[in-house]
Amino acid sequence: MNNNLTSTGELANEVLPQDWGNFEHIFHPDNHHHYRNAIDTTADLVQEFLYRNTKPFSGIEAKEMKGKVQEIDLNQKLSSYSELLSEVDDIYVKHATAFHLPQYVAHLNCPVVIPALAGEILVSAINSSQDTYDQSAGGTFMERKLIDWTAEQIGYNVNGSDGVFTAGGSQSNLMGLVMMRDCFSQKRYQHNIKTDGLPPEADRFRIFVSDKSHFSNLKNASIMGLGEKSIIKVPTDERFRMDIPLLKKYMKREEQMGNIPIGIVATAGTTDFGNVDPLDDIADIAEQYNIWMHVDAAYGCALLLSTKYRSLLNGIERADSVTIDYHKSFFQPISSSAFIVKNKRELLILKHHADYLNPKEMDEEEIPAQINKSITQSTRRFDALKLWFTLRMMGKEQLADYTDTVIDLTKDTAVMIAQDPDFELLSDSDLSVLVFRYTRPDIADTDALNQFIKMKLFYSGEILVASTRVNGNFYLKFTLLNPITTTEDIHQILTKIKTHGKDFSPEK
Ligand SMILES: *Cc1c(COP(=O)(O)O)cnc(C)c1O
Repeated sequence: MNNNLTSTGELANEVLPQDWGNFEHIFHPDNHHHYRNAIDTTADLVQEFLYRNTKPFSGIEAKEMKGKVQEIDLNQKLSSYSELLSEVDDIYVKHATAFHLPQYVAHLNCPVVIPALAGEILVSAINSSQDTYDQSAGGTFMERKLIDWTAEQIGYNVNGSDGVFTAGGSQSNLMGLVMMRDCFSQKRYQHNIKTDGLPPEADRFRIFVSDKSHFSNLKNASIMGLGEKSIIKVPTDERFRMDIPLLKKYMKREEQMGNIPIGIVATAGTTDFGNVDPLDDIADIAEQYNIWMHVDAAYGCALLLSTKYRSLLNGIERADSVTIDYHKSFFQPISSSAFIVKNKRELLILKHHADYLNPKEMDEEEIPAQINKSITQSTRRFDALKLWFTLRMMGKEQLADYTDTVIDLTKDTAVMIAQDPDFELLSDSDLSVLVFRYTRPDIADTDALNQFIKMKLFYSGEILVASTRVNGNFYLKFTLLNPITTTEDIHQILTKIKTHGKDFSPEK
């Protein structure tokens, strides 16, 4: 191999072929040194981000950020990678949220593992498209193997199950609802929604979710033509899990009103509380009604690998379909998600034949096409490769260990908050979210007090926390996803919160 890089990674003074023209940016063997130079200098900026960004956020205000970006003239090209990277550093990397720092405890953004980042380099450089075998030979089977592996963790019979990588949990949930709706219509009325559109009864279709389920269910119901009215939100118990007696009651009530229950979505790990709905009880009810059960395990899928806490997911294997977000809970970079179904024949409901891609005569198992399983994507990234890198380098046990560590840290944090008279803890978590607020006996407006604390933390950039409203009241929220975070880090975060809380005066 012809290596044109010097030991420092600089470009050697190499003369390009006479007729090469201005094609130096095309990914091609003759340009391999350009490729290495671009990747290496960009990796230097990643390293700079790690060393320099010691706070989770710079605290920059939107107005200033907008100005910086607007100033740039996109029609004026830059002359080198170093110019480009310094521009991008200034308007992006310097102000990027650093999810990997222990002081980032806001949303469901996990720190990422290095094997997945290495995989990402290959994903974009080779740029396989997962739609058909002729665009991704090994990738097609590697994705299938990871889907089977995930199905096995769920407890499905791998020969009967199937699935596909998706862009995210919202899209996987859409697939769950579409299959729920279409299978119901097919079985109950022999009506094919794919070809014939919605049956007249669809106006009365009802899907049951908990009132703490993810908002994507509402969005999905509206784009499916069922309307948000089709989503019935069942209240939750004291731990914010779907209340089973109320689920039964609501289903009966809807039936009495002439409506038609077509399925139940259980949430395994709610976004706001990290608690898991009673899956076995919900499976019993879905069976009794003979309707679809979908489990939104976008967050709770972490528990699949856990040895200590796996039992929280008991019953997930009875669901008809499951949403998995590896980019929430498997330490994967965005995007990396999957939709898994128990019965692969039901997935055929999504299949569409395009003569140029997967014509009917090519339908044999020996010429597989993942496009048959994908609901909204044709050209699709080989995101599965990142998970492959991760599993092969770390093994399932180490991933499980990270999850257990995070859950244990959350339990310790819950005790710290509950025992501190300055705080009020709202609920324990099955996973790793804690909802709480700071209180002061002399301040009646606890909402304003906690809003003040959140803004102070955000614009100082020192700590990023999230917030939510429960019963109309404003609460702070920790989402802990970093196994490196220690109780000492948490102690410092809580101390900072108190410091700002003490500074609050109602006029400020
Ligand atoms: C984040 C989340 C989703 C949506 O997943 P995306 O990957 O953000 O589209 C769905 N359900 C739950 C419970 C989530 O926490």
